Amino acid sequence: MTVKTDLKNLTLPALEQFLQGQGKERFRAIQVFKWIFQKDACTFDEMTNISKELRRELTDTAVISNLEAEAVEEGSDGTRKYLFKLADGNGIESVLIPIEGRNTLCISSQAGCAMGCEFCLTGTFKLTRNLTTAEIVNQIMAVKRDLVRNPPTLPASAGESLVNNFDDDDDSDEHPPSPADIRNIVMMGMGEPLHNLDNVIPAIRIMIDGNGLQLSNRRVTVSTCGLVPEMERLGREIPNVNLAVSLNATTDELRDRIMPVNRRYPIKELLRACREFPLPGRRKVTFEYVMLGGLNDSLDDAKRLLRLISDIPNKVNLIPFNEFKGCGFRAPTRTAIDAFHKYLIDRHVTVITRDSRGSDISAACGQLKGRHVVD
Ligand code: SAH
Ligand code: SF4
Repeated sequence: MTVKTDLKNLTLPALEQFLQGQGKERFRAIQVFKWIFQKDACTFDEMTNISKELRRELTDTAVISNLEAEAVEEGSDGTRKYLFKLADGNGIESVLIPIEGRNTLCISSQAGCAMGCEFCLTGTFKLTRNLTTAEIVNQIMAVKRDLVRNPPTLPASAGESLVNNFDDDDDSDEHPPSPADIRNIVMMGMGEPLHNLDNVIPAIRIMIDGNGLQLSNRRVTVSTCGLVPEMERLGREIPNVNLAVSLNATTDELRDRIMPVNRRYPIKELLRACREFPLPGRRKVTFEYVMLGGLNDSLDDAKRLLRLISDIPNKVNLIPFNEFKGCGFRAPTRTAIDAFHKYLIDRHVTVITRDSRGSDISAACGQLKGRHVVD
């Protein structure tokens, strides 16, 4: 028996090819693609503007996969954490951060992660496997479905910080935000997206396709620990996506210690790749900086950070370290965070200190673990 093709793995051009291989006209591909990604069809029978014959053929050769959340937890700040169980039993998580009708969804790209950063819970589990393109886009589709059924009600005090974080606040070309829309996608969940580019690139193409998930490429952000050749490939293949880089240290000595990837691509090479990344117009590279108490949170670090990034269009995300059981690091003090933040602001850097949104449900940065640990 031949294995059926999961159509959610296919970009529009790949679907065209698939149908052409079956002797079908190209325009059929747009119809099927829209049924899948815009009307969320789960079976071929629903595709009423498509001939019965083609529907029958597709049923024989293809499937449309789906994900349903196994558990949804909502934090006191409205953050929602979704646990998905994959077909092979692996678990992954996505986190929705709703702020004033502008939803940011943080999705996973791998089960586990091979990069082994010392401060990251996901990293301590090693890589189980890459997610497929279908599994990446299915996180978005499942959350959208949940948002329609169950729109978020927001606490009035919901912080502003994340809006500015991922949103370039130009609303002029858009409809007013709706609580059931996902506005920003950030690939900052479990895994290193650039370690799975073969599946991540088609997933991004589906996200930004006008016949697909219709997201603006200005609102898709890929976060990396610094895989230099893959940054170059991403820039070549999808030049308009936003880039976030987890810098986290200002000397090779410390970065080598806490992020093994630095031994392959030291800070200088990483920054060169950032400088060369094709960012359109006034867009900036986001530098994420996890503040580890007593380790990288001094004013000397702030000074070095500024010097390192000052010739790259930049903004800085300060992420106070989120502690987890068994980790050898401490969260920074409020005083250290404020002083670091002020140092940069005073020198005209755009800096956002991320509040620990979702930390009461272990949904904050670095706390995602899939199904590895039973609490
Ligand atoms: N692998 C990619 C994207 C996922 S990690 C990357 O490393 O960029 C998303 C962000 O969470 C990274 O900036 C990482 O530095 C940060 N992070 C990891 N563990 C953390 C922790 N325990 N506390 C705070 N931030 C953490
Ligand atoms: Fe992987 Fe990113 Fe965690 Fe490092 S910080 S282990 S790259 S998920």
